[in-house]
Amino acid sequence: MQNAAPFSLANQRRETWETALEQGSRTSRGWDILVVGGGITGAGILREAARRGLSAALLEQKDFAWGTSSRSSKMIHGGLRYLLSGDVKLVRASVRERDQLLAQVPGLVDPLGFLFSHYKGRFPGPHLFGGLLWVYDLFSGSGSHHYYPAPEYLFFAPNIDQHGLKGGNRYLDAVVDDARLVLRTIQEACADGALAINYVRVQDLLFAKNRVVGVSVKDEITGKEADLFARVMINATGVWADQLHSARYAGPHIRPLRGSHLVLPLWKLPVSQAVTLRHPVDKRPVFVFPWEGATIVGTTDLDHAESLNKEPKISPLEIEYLFDIVRSQFPSLRLEKGDILSTYAGIRPVIGGSKKRPSKEKRDHSIWEQDGMISVSGGKLTTFRLIALDVLRAAAPFLSSVDEKDAFADVFHQEKPAGTLPLPLNHSLRRRLEGRYGRHDGQVMQCEREDGFERIPGTDTLWAEVRWAARSEAVMHLEDLLLRRTRLGILLEKGGIAYFDRIRDICREELGWDLKRWEDEVSSYKRLWDACYSVPGNEESGSSI
Ligand SMILES: Cc1cc2nc3c(=O)[nH]c(=O)nc-3n(C[C@H](O)[C@H](O)[C@H](O)COP(=O)(O)OP(=O)(O)OC[C@H]3O[C@@H](n4cnc5c(N)ncnc54)[C@H](O)[C@@H]3O)c2cc1C
Repeated sequence: MQNAAPFSLANQRRETWETALEQGSRTSRGWDILVVGGGITGAGILREAARRGLSAALLEQKDFAWGTSSRSSKMIHGGLRYLLSGDVKLVRASVRERDQLLAQVPGLVDPLGFLFSHYKGRFPGPHLFGGLLWVYDLFSGSGSHHYYPAPEYLFFAPNIDQHGLKGGNRYLDAVVDDARLVLRTIQEACADGALAINYVRVQDLLFAKNRVVGVSVKDEITGKEADLFARVMINATGVWADQLHSARYAGPHIRPLRGSHLVLPLWKLPVSQAVTLRHPVDKRPVFVFPWEGATIVGTTDLDHAESLNKEPKISPLEIEYLFDIVRSQFPSLRLEKGDILSTYAGIRPVIGGSKKRPSKEKRDHSIWEQDGMISVSGGKLTTFRLIALDVLRAAAPFLSSVDEKDAFADVFHQEKPAGTLPLPLNHSLRRRLEGRYGRHDGQVMQCEREDGFERIPGTDTLWAEVRWAARSEAVMHLEDLLLRRTRLGILLEKGGIAYFDRIRDICREELGWDLKRWEDEVSSYKRLWDACYSVPGNEESGSSI
């Protein structure tokens, strides 16, 4: 299966669906593992299952990474603040995973400097914080942190508030394109024989002798319904995990916590590293960091009371909360709300229904079993591999054998298929393509020949990446292409509308969309963008598309 397609290609979807049905039918053996949920947790489980030779399929009700996994703060990190709350085990494990990802997929997971400013009379002081960083660095065996007095520190963060500034600490963590991490992980699983299909919703569980033996599913593209069977079902639906249980369910419950972000042009809010700000209202850390040619500010952390069936969006109060701190900490930049390019919100699947302040809730994952179905929720992007290994351990009693020997093997294939093109590329471009597309980087470059070596202004994205995604990454809707395969929908003004003519041509050529289909897709995308990715209440200043 080494030359298998990345996953269900748009034009091979029917074939993929038929394979899913054939292998998952009651009369055949059924799948070894059927994973519900195409976020990073499901992707990680699929990948580890396929690597162990299990027959595994993944079903996602919308698009791959549509849920929380494309709406995170995009950090691959140990989580310094979890160290403060005493969660040493989680931090140590996360730091190790971070270091492995940095080594395995440079260009997808990249190092980023983090800055923490110290002001007179504010807690924590440089010594205490330096001690914390010392422990943090100890976990990775590196000595990345350093304290700089104010004059030197200002070279790193020239625009920050200098009133009472003593200096600052700098340490290293990492950033990722979260949706692409999901895609790349699924792609690796499919290269090892797994199957993944988007826009297939699991509607119900199927039981035999009080045990879950399968699911009834609906293909949201064609409307077809079917039953699929497996030895073990994995519920990796994140914040939706409660919804997939039977009526007799008595396990843990999810507390949905919303976190929202602002995206600004890098030239309006220029930062070369992540700047950590402490919000004066609740003393929570808020990060301002460079990402893909823009600057992201986030996050908030509050109970999400709205229906989980609706796509989340930032509230006007969250905009005030985030914008206030940016404006006060970067006073010389004179930022205005009209400078915000886009917003996005994600829901954190935190386990437990406690009354603790949201930021005090534990971020570790939980795994539980009911009626033979394994559910997993919570955790972080950073630890997806460890979560997958825990899930496979929990699933082992339902499978004939799960090989534990290679628990430390690389998640990502390092070898290239024969015939890969020698690429005439500079170092950073090569790194980007290798990190994001792995074995397919040569094919992305073939697209480059059709589109010329061209980046989309204001972003790090190449036109070739847009074409490659449309050609071969299971794009079903325009939003898949602009919000998850590429991130143009949040990086460009008004969701990228200025480039729609060129994007239309690509969709016509690669996806076979006629003009009517294109116009329908544009209308839905605009509605979605206005509702969930714009600045609410900013319509008059032109934020709407
Ligand atoms: C604001 C915010 C910032 C964060 N920042 C970071 C960070 O910087 N670093 C970090 O490591 N972690 C971070 N996290 C945590 C991390 O993003 C999540 O833990 C992770 O993305 C959860 O992935 P998941 O696959 O479990 O859930 P999801 O990504 O939500 O995936 C679940 C999927 O299941 C699908 N699904 C649901 N029901 C069904 C059904 N019936 N049939 C088929 N499919 C279904 C959904 O459509 C969804 O795509 C952050 C989280 C939030 C909210």
